[in-house]
Amino acid sequence: MVLVDFWHENWLGDSIVNLLQIPTIAAQTLYCPVQRFIPNSNWSIAEAHTSAFPDVSASILQLPLSIDEIDNCMVWPFSSTGHMTIAASYSYCGPALPPVSWAKHLWKSYVPPRIAAVAWRLLWDRLPTELELQKRCFHIASCCSLCHSFSHGETTTHLFLHCDSAKELF
Ligand SMILES: [Zn+2]
Repeated sequence: MVLVDFWHENWLGDSIVNLLQIPTIAAQTLYCPVQRFIPNSNWSIAEAHTSAFPDVSASILQLPLSIDEIDNCMVWPFSSTGHMTIAASYSYCGPALPPVSWAKHLWKSYVPPRIAAVAWRLLWDRLPTELELQKRCFHIASCCSLCHSFSHGETTTHLFLHCDSAKELF
């Protein structure tokens, strides 16, 4: 289990090192699990800290604590359980793709998962070709990595339908 670091994790809306504007060189030396500040199920902030940083200390002391004795742990705030799952992160990224009839033929036990994944991405035109990467602000030359043609660039259509080098492979 990964314990939440008091200083560097964003458990108070921002990290403590950012809230206190601790210089990076000093912040690198800091590490302490949050639970060390919660002995006996209550916050324990040193008086020196509460007087030096009253706003941050007040924010910490206002955080409700669990009644149960549980270790602190990472929580993903975009799911109701706090657990990050593939399904939860996928739905967080955007609306689900519409259901398609051909999907049931692709995700079969006899189709190797990596083949199914490439086919799925191909059929949705989501392969990381150079053209697709350029759409996502990756600044790279538009050149087919198989035939080194600059005239067509590396697109899904070129790779799977028109590239002479790819035709030799298939
Ligand atoms: Zn090519």
